[in-house]
Amino acid sequence: MPKAVMVASNNAHKLQELREIFALAGLASVNLVAPRDLGLTCAPDETGATYLDNALIKARAFARAYREEARRRKWGELWILADDSGLEVDALGGRPGVQSSRYHQDAPGGDGCAALLRELVAMPDAQRTARFRCVLALIGPQGQEHIFEGVCEGRIAHEQRGENGFGFDPVFLLDDGRTMAQLSPIEKHRISHRGVAGRQAAEFLLRLEAT
Ligand code: IMP
Repeated sequence: MPKAVMVASNNAHKLQELREIFALAGLASVNLVAPRDLGLTCAPDETGATYLDNALIKARAFARAYREEARRRKWGELWILADDSGLEVDALGGRPGVQSSRYHQDAPGGDGCAALLRELVAMPDAQRTARFRCVLALIGPQGQEHIFEGVCEGRIAHEQRGENGFGFDPVFLLDDGRTMAQLSPIEKHRISHRGVAGRQAAEFLLRLEAT
């Protein structure tokens, strides 16, 4: 089992969630480090057409940045984990999808949740189905690539509710009537797209220890 994994992301929410998911999966001893913890700056263009493309773009770019620095500084081997994720709204033909992060940036005041509610204002409940999807790309020290995917089904609410989580959580409605932002972190990880994919990645790393 690796001692440390670098999360190839500058998104603090994702890093925090992946840390919690790994700890819940029994990988508390693996240190999930952020690029900035190692003094690495890398902001690859997410130009891919799919979550998989973008996850691999990020993982490969951060793996390259790490290898170059590691060679100079004589650091050891490290696994790299990248997350690409988004919200797919059926009534919008799957948008914003891979453009989810951009959707928030382009929304007035950066409020992507409010912009989404406006787009769906006339949409009846039955047509408000949506899902979160997460693709994780894990790259090993020898360049071996492993992919994990998780999906979480729900609907788009009529108003924002809840203070937890990030991104579209306040408008993502679950079967029990709560939004994702009304769940505790542990409740979210049990059902979320990232929880599903993260557990698969954690189990894979745990199996490495056994072999
Ligand atoms: P990425 O950083 O390019 O993968 O974009 C991820 C975007 O998808 C985020 O900015 C959010 O808008 C959305 N997203 C992904 N996962 C979640 C989640 O767990 N909760 C809420 N929004 C999410």
